[in-house]
Amino acid sequence: MILSNTLSAKLSEISQKCIKCELCVKECAFLRRYGKPKDIADQYDSGEQINRLMAFECSLCQLCTAVCPVGINPSGMFLEMRCDAITRGDSDFDKYKHILTYEMRGISKRYTWYGLPEKCDTVFFPGCALPGTRPDKTIAVFELMQKKISSLGIVLDCCTNISHDLGRKEFFLSAFGEMKQFLIQNGVKTVIAACPTCYKIFDQYGESINVKSIYEFIADQKIRKINNEAQTVTIHDPCALRFNGHIQDDVRRIVSNLGLAINEMPRIREKTLCCGGGGSVKYLSCYLSEKWADVIKQEQSGNRVITYCAGCASSLGKSMPVSHIIDLFFDTNATLAGKIKVYKSPMTYLNRINLKRRLKKILKTVVSYERAERPF
Ligand code: SF4
Ligand code: SF4
Repeated sequence: MILSNTLSAKLSEISQKCIKCELCVKECAFLRRYGKPKDIADQYDSGEQINRLMAFECSLCQLCTAVCPVGINPSGMFLEMRCDAITRGDSDFDKYKHILTYEMRGISKRYTWYGLPEKCDTVFFPGCALPGTRPDKTIAVFELMQKKISSLGIVLDCCTNISHDLGRKEFFLSAFGEMKQFLIQNGVKTVIAACPTCYKIFDQYGESINVKSIYEFIADQKIRKINNEAQTVTIHDPCALRFNGHIQDDVRRIVSNLGLAINEMPRIREKTLCCGGGGSVKYLSCYLSEKWADVIKQEQSGNRVITYCAGCASSLGKSMPVSHIIDLFFDTNATLAGKIKVYKSPMTYLNRINLKRRLKKILKTVVSYERAERPF
C-alpha cells in the first residue's frame, strides 16, 4: 500500500532518530501495550488494518514528545496513522457517534453565531463546553473582557478538534477553514480562546489569526483576596497546553491572587498527564483512558484539583474533587466547598441555544452570521 508523504516522513523520522531509551514508554500505558516508538514505526504496515487502528488508542497528549531526549514527536506519527486509516475507510464511526454528533451540532446553524460589533478585530471564542456547562460565567467572562476591548465580538462555533484528532483531516480542514476565512474576511485579527483545545487549533491552523487565552485577562483583574490562606489546591495543566508556559503561569497567578496556596503535583506543565479525554480514546479503551486519571488521583494528595479545561474538569471529576478555574474565580468559596452547579447533557445543549439568544440581544453588531444548515 502507498503511504501519504506526511506519514512516510513521520515513520522514517521516528525510525531513524528514536534511540529506544523507553522514557516515553515508562510514562504511557498505550506504549507499554504496543512497544517503543521506533519498533512501532519499523513494523508499521499499512496493509495490516490492525496496525492502523492501534493509533486510535493513543491519547495524542504529547507526553512522549515532552520527555523525549532526542526531540521527536511520536504523537504526530500516531495522528498521521489515524489519518491513513480514515483515508482507507477503516474507522468504525459507530463507536464515535456520540462525540461526532456533539461536534456536528457545534457547527450547525442552530448553535453557531458570529456577532461582530463595529470596528471589531478581536473576538471571544468560548468553544462548546464552557457555554453549555457554565452559560452565565461565559457571559461574565465576555463582559469582563469587553471592559478592556470595547469592540470585542463573540464567535459561538466549534473548532472541530474532535474530527482533527480522529484523523478526519479533510472534514476538519473544510470546517475549520470555512470559519477561518470568514473571520479573516471580516477583519478579525485576534481570537481569545477559553478552551485549551480551541487555543491549540487556532495556534496551529489559524495562519494570520493571532490567538490569546482568556486567562491573561483574568489574571490581570484586581481581586479582593478572600481569606483563603489556609486553603491549598493543586493545578492540573491540560495536555493541549503543555508547551504554553505563559498560560500555565497566568492560571497560577489567578489562584495566588485569590489568596490560595498551591501544592504542585509531580507531573505538571510540560510533563502534565492527559485527563483521559484525549484523542477520544475512551470510546475504544476505558482501561487506557482511565489509567491517566488513576495516576493524577495518586498525585493530587487529597487537594482539590483546579484545571482550566472544561473537558478535563469533567473527566477527572469522576474520581476526585475538581473545579474549573472560571468557577473558582467567580465563586471562590462555593467552588472550594464543592457546591458549584455544573450543567450536564442534555441541558448543555439548551444552555447553548439560550446563550446565543441572550448574546444576540445584548450585543450591538454590524456583522451577524450563522453557519449554513448542514454545511458539510
Ligand atoms: S501521545 Fe500520549 S498516549 Fe500517545 S504515545 Fe505519546 S504519551 Fe502515549
Ligand atoms: S523517549 Fe524518544 S528516544 Fe526514547 S523511546 Fe521514546 S521516542 Fe524513542
